[in-house]
Parts: sequence; C-alpha cells; structure tokens
Amino acid sequence: MKLVLATFPLVFLLLSCGAPTPGQVASWKADEWGHRPGPKGFTTVIIDAGHGGKDAGASAHGQTEKLLALDTAKRLKRQLGGKVRTVLLRGDDTFIDLDDRVDRVSGKDGTILVSLHYNSSGSGIRGPETYYWRVDSHGLATRIQRNMESVSPAESGNRGMVRRRLRLTRNPDIPSVLVEVGYLSNAAEAKLCADPNYRERMAATIARAILDQQSKGDAGTGSLPKPIYAPPSRPTDPPGS
Ligand SMILES: [Zn+2]
Repeated sequence: MKLVLATFPLVFLLLSCGAPTPGQVASWKADEWGHRPGPKGFTTVIIDAGHGGKDAGASAHGQTEKLLALDTAKRLKRQLGGKVRTVLLRGDDTFIDLDDRVDRVSGKDGTILVSLHYNSSGSGIRGPETYYWRVDSHGLATRIQRNMESVSPAESGNRGMVRRRLRLTRNPDIPSVLVEVGYLSNAAEAKLCADPNYRERMAATIARAILDQQSKGDAGTGSLPKPIYAPPSRPTDPPGS
C-alpha cells in the first residue's frame, strides 16, 4: 500500500508534464492498430524514399519519382539533423519490397515513419497530398499537409489528406504517413518539383511539421478520425480498397 501511494504522484507528474519526458517516450510503444492519439516526444524518424532500383515509380516530363523521392528524403534528413534521430530506409537507388519496408520499421518504440513520393495522374491534377490510415497518424498528416500547402503555389490547389489503407499506412505498427509532394504528370508542377530549391523548401516545411508533432503532439490538428478495423493491406487487394 505504501508503495502504491509513493508511485502514484510520480506517474501523475510524468503524464502531466508539457515537455516529453523519458517516461512518455518509453510509453510510446509500437501498436498494431494505432487507435490512439498521435505521438509526442518520439525519438526517431524513419524516412522512406519511395520506390528505387527496378521500380522507378512515376515518370513524366523528364522527371523520375524514385530519384526525386531519394533526393527529398536526404534533404529531409539534413533538415532534421541534430533535432531528432533519423534513419533513411534507402540511401541509394536500391529496390526494397513494400513488405520488407514494413518489416524494417515495425516494432520500433518511439519511432514514426514518413514515406516520400511524387505522384502521377491526369495532366490537369496537381498539388501535394498526404495519405494516412491509423488514428495516431492523423495529427502528423494534418501538420505535413498544412505545411506543404503553405509552400506549394496557390494555383496548384489543395489535394488535401486522404485516409487510405495502403501497405505503408496500415501495416506498420508505428505512426505512418505517406507524402505525395507533387504531380509529375502536371507540366507546371513537374517543373517545380525538378527545382532543387522547391524540394528543399518542401523538405524544410515537412521537417517543421514533424518537429511540431514531436513537441506538441496532436494539439491544434482537429478531432481524431474514428478507428476503423480493417485487415492489413495486401498486394493482392483490389486497387482503392
Ligand atoms: Zn510512389
């Protein structure tokens, strides 16, 4: 009984403190479903450059997704340098299967995943998009999308956030977002994305969103979406399911 009385105030202190504490970080464990508020005080950001090697991803207007994604991933790593631990899932033009990416990021406490991509569709569609699935990824997705829209020119429109069960948004057991920086299939946006200065500004604003999430958690990102119970995403799933 004496022990219970002695430990209770300590637990309360750890939970009520504004800045992340070792206690809070240790309690941010990997979780299969992610039906919980978004993380605060995470220690590691895994940066995934989409595609790679034999998988070029989107290709249009002289631009190739896998190369731009790798370049942006390295810029994001530099922008976050010294502020949070960062890991690049691929640091060169290597192919990694999507399920391997999921295996490599899962089970890591105090860690989030940010996967970087460039998009392709009809030539009239443009603007950044952020995909998420888990409830605990909503705040981070909101921050990243909001920040990218502040850098992307107004005329490129707001493609917004998309809640979609993808292998990289549903299957990892840590908070995970997939960022589509811009549409290479749109001539004007492809030209923007080809500009290293634009990619640097996008990387910087994504970094700020990640650091805001780390220090503030979900504060100011709106109400959480409802939990959805759905099985892991599989390569055999029909598109858009
Ligand atoms: Zn992609």
